Amino acid sequence: MLRQGKPLVVAIDGPSGSGKSSVSKAVAQRLGLAYLDTGAMYRAVTWHCLNGRIDLDNAQAVESAAREIRLEQNLTPGEEFVKVNGITVTGPIREPKISAAVSTVAANLGARAELIRRQKAIIAECHHRIVVEGRDITTVVAPNAEARLILTASEEARLRRRGLQLGGTQTQAQLKEQVLGRDAKDSTVVDFRRAADGVFTVDSSNLDFEQTIGAVITVVRRAVHEDLPA
Ligand code: C5P
Repeated sequence: MLRQGKPLVVAIDGPSGSGKSSVSKAVAQRLGLAYLDTGAMYRAVTWHCLNGRIDLDNAQAVESAAREIRLEQNLTPGEEFVKVNGITVTGPIREPKISAAVSTVAANLGARAELIRRQKAIIAECHHRIVVEGRDITTVVAPNAEARLILTASEEARLRRRGLQLGGTQTQAQLKEQVLGRDAKDSTVVDFRRAADGVFTVDSSNLDFEQTIGAVITVVRRAVHEDLPA
């Protein structure tokens, strides 16, 4: 096992449709690490607000909601679930109406500060052996992670993958709004498209799933100076 008994935080950022979640999950499984999907936390707060008729434009109310909700996530890769105040929302938080609203919660700096605080606490609870994926992990949540990388892909590849993920239920215009429109809104709060100093970039446009996992694991090994012999 890589760095057994020692900290190994793998921070992965990237745009929507880059394959972040599925790749991060697989990398966590193969390296024997926990897995945290931080996007699911923003989605869970958004679900709670919509479900409880909390006005997303009421910044104070959204911040309070982020502080007050009981958020439970399973950190075992491949067995994820998300619960909000005891209600399982694993499926509902992926619905397009949540994707369309989540950027407003992400832009709420009070709610953001609270979720970042929770994310740092989870990393500590996992004894710093975890893959964490999102938009601001390499720069804000875990800037001292042992391995930091941006997973990216061309617009075309990202639209195609998200379309497949949603089972062909969306028109091209809807997909563009959900992928490119959301990224444009999100990038007003965090710059997840450009790798900060010391952050590796993996472009998966021309890689299949297995190749992408391999490329990410190579980056992790290189970052912790445990490259495989050539
Ligand atoms: O990764 P996913 O698409 O599920 O993320 C949902 C949303 O959560 C993003 O569009 C972004 O608005 C927000 N987010 C964020 N910071 C993170 C993770 C997600 O702002 N670290």
